[in-house]
Amino acid sequence: MKDIATPTRTKEILQKYGFSFKKSLGQNFLIDINILQNIVKAAELDSTKAVLEIGPGIGALTEHLARAAGKVVAVELDQRLLPILKDTLEPYPHVEVIHGDILKVNLQKLIKEQFAGYEKISVVANLPYYVTSPILMRLLEEHLPLENIVVMMQKEVADRISAAPGGKEYGALSAMTQFYAKPEIAMIVPHSVFIPQPNVDSAVLKLRVWDKPPVEVVDQKMLFKVIKASFAQRRKTIFNNLQTSIFGREQRETLLQILEETGIAPARRGETLGLEEFARLSNRISKEQL
Ligand code: SAM
Repeated sequence: MKDIATPTRTKEILQKYGFSFKKSLGQNFLIDINILQNIVKAAELDSTKAVLEIGPGIGALTEHLARAAGKVVAVELDQRLLPILKDTLEPYPHVEVIHGDILKVNLQKLIKEQFAGYEKISVVANLPYYVTSPILMRLLEEHLPLENIVVMMQKEVADRISAAPGGKEYGALSAMTQFYAKPEIAMIVPHSVFIPQPNVDSAVLKLRVWDKPPVEVVDQKMLFKVIKASFAQRRKTIFNNLQTSIFGREQRETLLQILEETGIAPARRGETLGLEEFARLSNRISKEQL
């Protein structure tokens, strides 16, 4: 049997089931075996590893994951794809397809039930682009036993997530993601490997999840609050942004003192602060009764 992701087999499958793409679900299926092999390689899988896939589509990537890993669980939102997946993934008994929304399923429970005996899990996916950031934040914030996350996304988002402080691409998403994981762009992907072709450039981002965050933080919620506030208005200074979102005018002096104590000039912009500085600042703010 030919691979699902060959253009001919994909077309055959789509035709057989009369499947029509839903743009609103970010449906752009992969039809290039080379790209699939490179994604699987980036995930560093072997038969002792377990994989959670988001949005299997008709199973193009799932099939390649199944060949490389010990167990694959794929969560698909579009009910119309379930009978198709039952058919295309029939040769792979260690693949489980679950109907659900990845933003809503109980991931802790899913992992406990599906991945018993596996220590660490990889997430591998060609993501629905309309929900890339919420999916990533959910995966990272839930403290799941993840080893790495290898995901196709809009190139622009991959660039933002992996950006270093100082540039215009660096923002709240970069700092928050980098608190949990080390990002690296594994490859840039041309439009031609998808059906239908997306209007944006794509990239595969690899996130190696830290065992322990790279900075010491007293209150992680405060860290994220400070990060978000610092980028609320990009052209404003750190002082102005923090005063607007967290402190209020009457606490102007307190804020100035905190910035001085933490060695952060009030006139700096959020985009110049690294994770280390955000941690120092938020740890000091946590001590204050606001
Ligand atoms: N993995 C397939 C491939 O590479 O050919 C399909 C990738 S396609 C970019 C995204 C898939 O995610 C679609 O199958 C879509 O139906 C599914 N999807 C969209 N939103 C979802 C959600 N919230 N939860 C789970 N799956 C979702």
